This record gives sequence, structure tokens and C-alpha cells, in this order.
Amino acid sequence: MSTAPVLSAVDVTKHFVVRGAVGDSAVVRAVENASVDLHAGRIVAVVGESGSGKTTLARMLARFYDPTAGEIRLDGVSVSGRPTRAYHQDVQLIFQDPFGSLNPVHRVRHNLDRALRIHDRRMSAAERRRRAVELLERVSLTPGEDFLDKFPHELSGGQRQRVVIARALAVGPKVLLGDEPISMLDVSIRLEMLNLLDRLRREDGLALLYITHDIASARYVCDDVIVMYAGEMVEGGPKDEVIARPAHPYTKLLVESSPDPDRVGTVSRDELFDDAEALGEPPSLIEPPEGCRFHPRCPFAMERCRSEAPPRTDVGGGHWARCWLHQEGRAHEIGESTFAAALTRRDEQVRA
Ligand code: SF4
Repeated sequence: MSTAPVLSAVDVTKHFVVRGAVGDSAVVRAVENASVDLHAGRIVAVVGESGSGKTTLARMLARFYDPTAGEIRLDGVSVSGRPTRAYHQDVQLIFQDPFGSLNPVHRVRHNLDRALRIHDRRMSAAERRRRAVELLERVSLTPGEDFLDKFPHELSGGQRQRVVIARALAVGPKVLLGDEPISMLDVSIRLEMLNLLDRLRREDGLALLYITHDIASARYVCDDVIVMYAGEMVEGGPKDEVIARPAHPYTKLLVESSPDPDRVGTVSRDELFDDAEALGEPPSLIEPPEGCRFHPRCPFAMERCRSEAPPRTDVGGGHWARCWLHQEGRAHEIGESTFAAALTRRDEQVRA
């Protein structure tokens, strides 16, 4: 692994101003002070429920949005201003909906040919056709010739997403950003898609960001995990550490409500967040809670959690978390009982 990251978000914040019908406005604090490094040949998963800020983070890295504060660095160089074509070649974003990503009136051949022309204007039509077949076979659409003349509506969801990935590869990227790339696919092919992403990072040395609400799929494919809650990064580190020994109560909730690893990719969004929803809605990003944003839902919350944002604490081996339990010498409580048991205990104490 190269020690220098290919792509980094450094302390990025994104606020959106939303205007109401009567001329009023409000600020949505979508992402606050988030940092991530993507290295060649490694996969970082960003996990969280809807509204956690993970998609906004991916879009800042893809330069669809400018950060309100902080910076994006490609190969160590800060990028700003209008994104260049070279940037979009190096950093490719794969969306959740493969059907919306492909031009429905054009055949697969056209969708790939356009990307190949952008990549190398000197390539002849015959070379582009040969390369398009190669790319299709790279993503296991074989024989590639059979797919060139199909329209997107003639393909299954999984085949369409493979074409989207082949098109992303056509421009020779260094980084792939997958924004829930498997969540709209049939459960039977999600594992195949994860295996494809894994193969691409190993064979092509791509740096990958994998955005997901499903910590079980993150466990299957990634090297490192970052957990986001209400616009903030609350925990991160090597996946085995984070998932085996969550150091933040929210991560513990995600891990306990995720399915057995043997059912990777088969969990539904509703199933995963059943427990989380029993705790109430995630907070508003217009007026997020003071202090730790998780405190209204946290069974371990203390007085200071309601007013002071917890600092980042390193818990060893590259694993870190933002939770006051670590500063208070109470971090062991996270591992001592299930999240549900801690919640029951809190409710009993409140009633007593
Ligand atoms: Fe819970 Fe407090 Fe830790 Fe936030 S800082 S996760 S409220 S214990």
C-alpha cells in the first residue's frame, strides 16, 4: 500500500442554505469537520443511516459540491475552483440507481464509446470497440460482444450497474466512489457486485470509497470503516477492530442490528434500522442537538453529553471514537451489555 493517500477530504464541512416559500431560509448542517484518506488498493466504507451525511461527503470528494470549509486533495494537492475534466477522469462516482446513470436511448456501445473518446481522442473506432468489449468482460459481462448492442432497458439491474462500472473504468480512474452501489440491486447479485469491487481494487489498484447503510456489506468488502451520525464522523478504524469492538454506542447499535455475516447484502434497510427507529427519528440537521448529536438516543448519555461535543479519542491500532465515555473512564460499559439492554436500564432509571 502506498503511504500517501490518492484522495483526501481534510476537515470538510458542508452547509446548505434552504429557502422557504415565504422568503425565509435555514441552514442544513449536512457534514461537519469530516476527514477521510483513500489509498490505492484499499476500500474505505462510510456507514450510516439516511441523513448521516455520507452521500454529501461522496459528492464533495467527486467535486459535485464545494465544501463550505476544509479542502479536498488529489495526490496531495488541494483542489478548488471549477473541477477539471482530468479530475473527473481520476475520480469517478457510481450512483445508487444504475438505470438513471445510463442514457436510455443509447446502446451500451455508445455509452462506453463516449467515455473512451474522452479518455483518449486518438483511439480509432476499431480500437474503441475492442476496448469496450474488454471492459465489459472485465466486469463479467461475457462475451462482451453480446452486450454492445443492447439498450439499458434490455439489461437486468446488476448488468446495468456492471455497465456503469465499465464506463467508469473506461476513463482510467484512480478512485471509485460508490454511493450505495448495490442497494438497488436484487439481493441475489449483491455479493457478486461486492466481489467485483474487491477484484478491481486488487487488480487495478483502485482506491475505493464504499458508501452504505449496511454494516454487514461493509464488513464483507472493506479494509477500514468510518461511521457517520447526523453529519459527523463518530468512529473509525480497521474494520475488524470497529466491528468486533465498537467504541461508540451508535456503532454498537449498528453492529447489533446488522444481520449475520452469512447473510451479507441480504438485509433490508428497514430490517437494519428497526432498532434504530425504535429510538426515534434521527435529529434535524437544521437544529442538531447541542453537545453529542447522538445524546437524545443514547442509553449512556451523561450531563456533559448534552452540552459539550466529545473530542476524538484514539483507542489503539488506528481505531478512534468520539464519545465522552472514553474521557470518563467508562468506555468498558459499551461492551458490557447489548444496546437494547442498556436502553432498558436507562428507561428503568428514568422511571424510578
Ligand atoms: Fe452517548 Fe455521551 Fe458517548 Fe454521545 S458522548 S455517544 S451521548 S455517551
